[in-house]
Amino acid sequence: MNVISNHMPTAELQTLDAAHHMHPFTDGAALAKTGARIITAANGVMLTDSDGHQILDAMAGLWCVNIGYGRYELADVAARQMKELPYYNTFFQTSHVPVIALSAKLAELAPNDLNNVFYAGSGSEANDTNIRLVRHYWAIKGQPNKNIIISRKNAYHGSTLGGGSLGGMPKMQTQGVPVIPGIHHIDQPDWWSEGGDKAPEEFGLERARQLEAAIHELGADRVAAFIAEPVQGAGGVIVPPSTYWPEIQRICDEHGILLIADEVICGFGRTGHWFGTDYYGIRPHIMTIAKGLSSGYAPIGGSMVCDEVAETVAQGGDFNHGYTYSGHPVSCAVAMENLRIMEEEKIVENVAQETGPYLKAKWESLASHPLVGEAKIVGMMGSIALTPHKESRAKFAAVAGTVGFACRTRCFANGLVMRHVGDRLVISPPLVITKAEIDTLIERAIKSLDETLEQIKADGLYKVG
Ligand SMILES: *Cc1c(COP(=O)(O)O)cnc(C)c1O
Repeated sequence: MNVISNHMPTAELQTLDAAHHMHPFTDGAALAKTGARIITAANGVMLTDSDGHQILDAMAGLWCVNIGYGRYELADVAARQMKELPYYNTFFQTSHVPVIALSAKLAELAPNDLNNVFYAGSGSEANDTNIRLVRHYWAIKGQPNKNIIISRKNAYHGSTLGGGSLGGMPKMQTQGVPVIPGIHHIDQPDWWSEGGDKAPEEFGLERARQLEAAIHELGADRVAAFIAEPVQGAGGVIVPPSTYWPEIQRICDEHGILLIADEVICGFGRTGHWFGTDYYGIRPHIMTIAKGLSSGYAPIGGSMVCDEVAETVAQGGDFNHGYTYSGHPVSCAVAMENLRIMEEEKIVENVAQETGPYLKAKWESLASHPLVGEAKIVGMMGSIALTPHKESRAKFAAVAGTVGFACRTRCFANGLVMRHVGDRLVISPPLVITKAEIDTLIERAIKSLDETLEQIKADGLYKVG
């Protein structure tokens, strides 16, 4: 077998990696200098790197390893499926057992009448599908000009040309995107950064009503859909004020706009409910799913579509769209096994009733740390905003993200993966994290915050910018 051994020295692996591997979302020159951290194994919530360090993965990989690492049941199912039927396509009126089983299971789990699944290989691809799906839907209904999609600034909807165009992070709106015309961005409901003197509830309403203003400006006959993450993930785990989603729902209903909930992170238990949609009580026409669907053990994504939209599209002749790996049998079988484990072990219920509240109390207590302004958490996705002055929610006297990056670096050194988004630190641990592991997570986070505070005081950065 030609597998690169884990026992090759780290430096050699790093050299090969830097020489031949172009990394996503990475400064290649900077990486070549430092060398990549190489993860060789994982179990539960713990990663092992090539030097034998144990690291608590409070990000569940990239928000996806919901059932934790090391569940051999998924590996066994994948091996069995590969032997029985490794691949067959779902184009041109063919199907196979794993895709049929998974579709029926997802229809059962999804809220309301989101009973139909169009598969993709990832969340980005699924959002590309959504762009085509909603435009095609309105065209079939005789409104081809109803094709504008409203999204939000600082949203993340993936990194393909479509996903990147839908997204609203300034850095993601460069280097070749946006390219899809007819996408309009409104402001995000980020009270901490943008709420000024307003109360959060008032600010939430105001930001929701930007959707209504945009619909009036563009014309309801031009707006096909609104897309949003129930809780923005990659944007920094921005939990919207309580007034936001009910108002968005009202506006979509009143103006006949399709609502797309991008559930790629929020879905599959992350919020303590099966979907973020359940948590907020909203009624999307389409949900984007990926990540936790297979707990990251195999690549799979998709769009869950309500009956009316699916029936309309079915009446529209060929839908000229699909991916070679739409409904890949191995990924579907792995996703089925993942969902079986989640249900049998009551993982979502446990997050809602036991570990979620336990983590919430500990996480929110971080707000009393001198470096932390607010601590937000829904289920098992949380964030803290770092600030030199809580009352004014001030920014540091340093380039945005400098302090966040410093803290993230301290976390790594202390055996904890937290991610920084600017000067916010975010967590999204495996949903199976135990109370004892939550204690470890919080201890390491506090140690890292303390060390960061010392460091930025020494560097003269603990002051308002
Ligand atoms: C990760 C993510 C995507 C993109 O999914 P990929 O599988 O990386 O293509 C889309 N939407 C949201 C909300 C995500 O977090």
